[in-house]
Amino acid sequence: MSNLSFIEPMPGSPWDTYLAQVDQVAPYLGPLARWIETLRRPKRALIVDIPIMLDDGRVAHFEGYRVQHNLSRGPGKGGVRFHPAVNLEEVMALAAWMTVKNAAVNLPYGGAKGGVRVDPATLSRQELERLTRRYTSEIGLIIGPDRDIPAPDVNTNAQIMAWMMDTYSANVGATVTGVVAGKPIPLGGSLGRVRATGRGVFLVAREAARRQGLALTDARVVVQGFGNVGSVAAELFAANGARVVAVQDHTGSIHNGNGVNLAALTAHVAETGGVAGFAGAEPLDNEQFWEVECEFLVPAALEGQLGEERAQRVRAKLVVEGANGPTTQSGDRVLHDRGIAVVPDVIANAGGVIVSYFEWVQDFSSFFWSEDEINARLERILLGAFEQICDTAAQLKIPLRTAAFVVACSRVLAAREQRGLYP
Ligand code: NAD
Repeated sequence: MSNLSFIEPMPGSPWDTYLAQVDQVAPYLGPLARWIETLRRPKRALIVDIPIMLDDGRVAHFEGYRVQHNLSRGPGKGGVRFHPAVNLEEVMALAAWMTVKNAAVNLPYGGAKGGVRVDPATLSRQELERLTRRYTSEIGLIIGPDRDIPAPDVNTNAQIMAWMMDTYSANVGATVTGVVAGKPIPLGGSLGRVRATGRGVFLVAREAARRQGLALTDARVVVQGFGNVGSVAAELFAANGARVVAVQDHTGSIHNGNGVNLAALTAHVAETGGVAGFAGAEPLDNEQFWEVECEFLVPAALEGQLGEERAQRVRAKLVVEGANGPTTQSGDRVLHDRGIAVVPDVIANAGGVIVSYFEWVQDFSSFFWSEDEINARLERILLGAFEQICDTAAQLKIPLRTAAFVVACSRVLAAREQRGLYP
């Protein structure tokens, strides 16, 4: 067992990447930099054991986490991931990026994230429900509508949010819709939430392209991850005249220079579980995927995908981060040196948490908005924040990621300073 404090990063881990990003922002924070250590430590990290009864009568144990990285600006907010690679360091990094994201778009939230180390594909629906409910009950110590509000992330969806809401509500003896976002619409969910992250990725990509004089019509788009985020972003690119020429997911990669028929691909994925074997495109080697010439590369799967070596081979004009933390520190440096602009995750995929915020507001007021109102408000907040980040980048002559961190970390640390230390 290691003697290291849990906040010491494993080299190359997402937490390591996040800490390096904090180091980069420090010189631009002025007097607030004296509080920067706040950003290098999660406020609170809960590890829970989740025992469940399997369908065959055996008992299995899973490890779950909920990390509240920072609560200076409001309750924690961030998704819940079910994936076999989930671990404390990953959840810490994802929680920290939520602190930065929520502040970058000026939502009244801190940052949090949760996860369970499990491959949900190996569980029956009943086992998945039991896992979700026991996990929710265990983290019930620290979540709540005014404490920390989970939402969907990789391999979690509206049904899982419904079970989480029901479990929390049963435990407190009252229906508390505002404890999670991303719920089904009849249970206090918000119109537009399912598509909000992908929509935001597209809106920010379109605006970044406009600023670079890059046309959308006939632009080639390469997307990694065809889940909630990647599939919606791909569809909106195609609906606005672009061609999605390559897609990769956990089952493989496909290529069609004329543009993949996304409705047919969606049907294939629903039927087979992945993009591999799709008849409307050629199979592509998973490493060659990164070399496909395109205007937009949208990594929308997992973190750490775009490292130094792949970054050297990328042939895109713009990288738009749909996933959280897809580009490593060295990958970022290579892309920067090669003149490939990166629109960072903390703004590019913030559409989801913005509409989660709308859901929370609607739940509290029990008054629900139309999808048009939601999409209009999403666009206004997201593009307003993106403009501020672009202005900061231009003023300070720094990359967009560092600029997003400057805007966000200044807000977080100003709140920290104004609140003062107790005792
Ligand atoms: P999802 O579970 O709906 O889809 C994940 C996709 O990634 C799937 O297509 C899967 O096949 C693919 N994938 C998994 N492992 C892969 C691998 N090794 N190589 C290639 N592809 C792989 O998840 P999602 O909600 O779309 O989330 C994707 C990313 O977006 C994550 O980084 C998540 O944190 C981030 N994100 C999600 C939301 C949201 O609202 N769902 C919001 C902000 C950010």
